[in-house]
Amino acid sequence: MKHDRIWNFYAGPAAVPLEALEKIHQSWFNYNGEGMAVMEMSHRSKPYDEIHNNTAGLVKKLLGLGDNYHVLFLQGGASLQFAMVPLNFLGNDKEADYIHTGTWSAKAIKEAKLFGNVNVAFDGNDTQFLRLPRQNEVKLTEGAEYVHITSNNTIRGTQFFAFPETNGVPLVADMSSDILSRCFDPEPFGLIYAGAQKNLGPSGVTLVILRNDFYERCIEKNLTTMLHYKTHVEKNSLHNTPNSFGIYFMECVLQWIDDMGGLKAMEARNREKADLLYGFINNNDGFYCCHIEKDSRSWMNVCFHLPTEALDQEFVRQGAENGFIGLKGYRSAGGCRVSMYNATPPEAIRDLVDFMQDFMDKNG
Ligand code: PMP
Repeated sequence: MKHDRIWNFYAGPAAVPLEALEKIHQSWFNYNGEGMAVMEMSHRSKPYDEIHNNTAGLVKKLLGLGDNYHVLFLQGGASLQFAMVPLNFLGNDKEADYIHTGTWSAKAIKEAKLFGNVNVAFDGNDTQFLRLPRQNEVKLTEGAEYVHITSNNTIRGTQFFAFPETNGVPLVADMSSDILSRCFDPEPFGLIYAGAQKNLGPSGVTLVILRNDFYERCIEKNLTTMLHYKTHVEKNSLHNTPNSFGIYFMECVLQWIDDMGGLKAMEARNREKADLLYGFINNNDGFYCCHIEKDSRSWMNVCFHLPTEALDQEFVRQGAENGFIGLKGYRSAGGCRVSMYNATPPEAIRDLVDFMQDFMDKNG
């Protein structure tokens, strides 16, 4: 394969588009005739300013966001957003609904409880996290400030395909593991956040999108400057030194998505991969077994088991030997997991399925 690369199925940091890497490589010593690399450039300089604003512009273009949205580039990962959201929007007398669908939503709930009243509107424990809630199972609270969801559950391998209807209450979504992977209507979302290291580029940048009318409800009281959304909205994410290189990297990834045909093209590509892999698993479910209910199965993270734990381990080991890295399930979930974000081409899944067939023929 080009540059001796292998198929990378790590859950994050994860594979990035080769075209983005090549572009960054080209500008490594001298970005656009500036005589220096992007990471050497002042974040107050004109060329960096262009990168910064162009990246935000691409986010808006790809998601079809109007002027009523703010795009922020923060640090601290999605994990800091677990706290910043309730810190900015809740208080002693305020409530929020949280839909609990796995490890990451549990962490978001834990943080929110520090700042306000949290109602668990659906508890995935009741269904062993094997599926996402149906609309009639979501118990919304009147007067809630927002409804929090995790759009894709990286560890469990579930993904929302229809978002919960909330009667106008803003949705707040952790989209860390499926942002920009498909078309969706952003309108019901008051806030979207995502760590960059799966679908957007390198770790160390967190994308936050705020709808203006929701943002205006952000509490005014004296919050720590760096933890107040207002600081970052008013300073266009330049209150302090941003992860300028990470943002440039994101620009290159977003440009690749745009060149490929935007979210429509990503959706078609991700659907094709999911059809290939789940199709193969369904046809061989005596050997490769996916317990997730069919209409909740994630297109990004495909989780499955082999007949024994020893075979799971052997599959992961032989996979790595054959050029397929990162097939081990999350530590708490066990089994195997194939993470296939935007950058993973269908060809990678075709090769993987051939390997899976071969492994089954020899071990089944
Ligand atoms: N939310 C989801 C859905 C994730 O998959 C992850 C990381 N894998 C996180 C949050 C935590 O992200 P970070 O490491 O950027 O804090």
